Amino acid sequence: MQLIEFTDKGLYCRVGDFYIDPWKSVPYAVITHAHSDHARYGSGTYLCHQLTKPLLQLRLGNNNYEAIAWNEAVYRNGVKVSLHPAGHIIGSSQIRVEYKGEVWVVSGDYKTVDDGISTIFEPVRCNTFITESTFGLPIYQWESQSTIFEQIGNWILRNKEQNVSSVLIAYSLGKAQRILHAVKAVTDTIWVHGAIWNAHQTLVAAGIRLPEVKRITTETTKTELKNAVVIAPPGADGSPWLKRFNPYTVGVCSGWMQVRGNKRRNNADAGFVLSDHADWNGLLSAINATGAQRVFVTHGFQSVLSRYLNEKGVEASEVKTAYGEEEVEKEDGV
Ligand SMILES: [Zn+2]
Ligand SMILES: [Zn+2]
Repeated sequence: MQLIEFTDKGLYCRVGDFYIDPWKSVPYAVITHAHSDHARYGSGTYLCHQLTKPLLQLRLGNNNYEAIAWNEAVYRNGVKVSLHPAGHIIGSSQIRVEYKGEVWVVSGDYKTVDDGISTIFEPVRCNTFITESTFGLPIYQWESQSTIFEQIGNWILRNKEQNVSSVLIAYSLGKAQRILHAVKAVTDTIWVHGAIWNAHQTLVAAGIRLPEVKRITTETTKTELKNAVVIAPPGADGSPWLKRFNPYTVGVCSGWMQVRGNKRRNNADAGFVLSDHADWNGLLSAINATGAQRVFVTHGFQSVLSRYLNEKGVEASEVKTAYGEEEVEKEDGV
């Protein structure tokens, strides 16, 4: 049974009459997480996890939201829908869809390792699994978070010794919160860009405990920012906004930093290979744990991953979606 169809508006469950992460306006959308490529404007109702709701409100404004807990069931025309932790960012969920004994799971974005802030990925058994493949190449193998955090901490300490500010580039939702503990371990004050401040305030108001940060505003003085430690979103990288930190050095936190040349292309002085997505082995172990007989592979290295799965005897095919531009940052900070 084709419980979920691939349409020009997004993943569609015809029996239940709902879309999952649609990229066009639809009456009823089930949302995996609050990143801008998965959660878009214009839909009638948004069903999402309780922790995703305030983030959607921040980014999409007031809409008709239905928020549920993990493992809580919602029925749509007899189709059972439930959300399960995806481990990608706070609130990120896999969507489990069940009808007449047939189970499909849509992964959204996910990672299988525990980052300490996003509820850890829960393998969900299903007949058909729709998986992302952002880092679906065998070259992507992540080191442990503690190793990367140590690298970030040492880099900041070295910069302090040399009297330069440390500017860490991280997505405002997810990565920026994830690195806070590593940064807090080596500095008293953590300065953040307005976009990161907004996400931080929203999460703290939703009851998430995060280290304290300070917002950079037009009033923030040059003296305050001397030898500062700053977290800024990718949109601020290479922009005049950075001038206030002079002299400064830039460190980019991204899975893409594993590939030589990306550091140079991003004008980064340092690259930290930290990703909120599963690496190659993470994808394979997650897919295996679902027990799915059939896999659809979305955004990323679809052809490589689906070919590999087919060789291993798992029926897999590629699906085109509009996901992948992880975060189009709105520069709503200063
Ligand atoms: Zn995402
Ligand atoms: Zn994605």
